[in-house]
Amino acid sequence: MARHRSPGGQAPSPALEDALDGAVVRVRGTHRLPPPPSALRGRVVVAAVAAGAFAAAAAGSTLQSLASGESDTKVQPLASAQDASASFGVGGDTSVVGTATPELLPVSRSTDASAEVEKLTDSESVTNAREKREAEAARKAAEEAKRPKVVNPCPAARFTSGFGARWGTSHNGIDLAAPIGTPILAAADGTVIEAGPASGFGLWVRIQMSDGTVHVYGHMNDYSVRVGQKVKAGQQIAEVGNRGQSTGPHLHFEVWSGGSKKIDPRSWLRERGVSL
Ligand SMILES: [Zn+2]
Repeated sequence: MARHRSPGGQAPSPALEDALDGAVVRVRGTHRLPPPPSALRGRVVVAAVAAGAFAAAAAGSTLQSLASGESDTKVQPLASAQDASASFGVGGDTSVVGTATPELLPVSRSTDASAEVEKLTDSESVTNAREKREAEAARKAAEEAKRPKVVNPCPAARFTSGFGARWGTSHNGIDLAAPIGTPILAAADGTVIEAGPASGFGLWVRIQMSDGTVHVYGHMNDYSVRVGQKVKAGQQIAEVGNRGQSTGPHLHFEVWSGGSKKIDPRSWLRERGVSL
């Protein structure tokens, strides 16, 4: 069977060589052998299926060699295997059946192949789902990057009183006047550490930032957050009121640096790009 070997290339498998041997024998005897007994026909079909598998195997090796640029030396086995398949179909040579039957294994490859296709389809949908998730995450990250991290806590209000000495005492925050019910927004991202009644403030909400800074909102008519809740800059947390020691509807806003040192909220906001 050396004539089937490709010089310097990959030789056909032993099974293929056997099948080709049988094919040659059968072709020589085509006009001399009687028609096969019916008992053999089933086995002939088996042999034909096996031969088809050889053809497929040969086709596979041809595709391989095409891919590796050696098509000139590898095309021949495919043609031979096809010839073998054709002669098995008309003949009934039991010796061919005997050698071909153990090679039925390749038939089950078609099942493996469909399983592979299924796997590929699965991995494709997995990839699509992952790409969608990644795109969504990127979109959210871009949105997060654009989102202001500090905002005016009451954009609709009018600045009426600053931080510091006032009427012989110290005003620990700023006043932003607006009608009762005007939305009050979280000035920055943070966690609500207090929400409820407080002496002088009527109702207050205190929100702590991740760096420890605490924002205090006072005199509100009502609030819509609870202790432990995380809020984002710009999110409505309350509405303007006139509760506590207040001479008219306004938001009293304080900034406690490090959680305790009261500083000028207007300066704190201005340093972060927000002017009142
Ligand atoms: Zn005030």
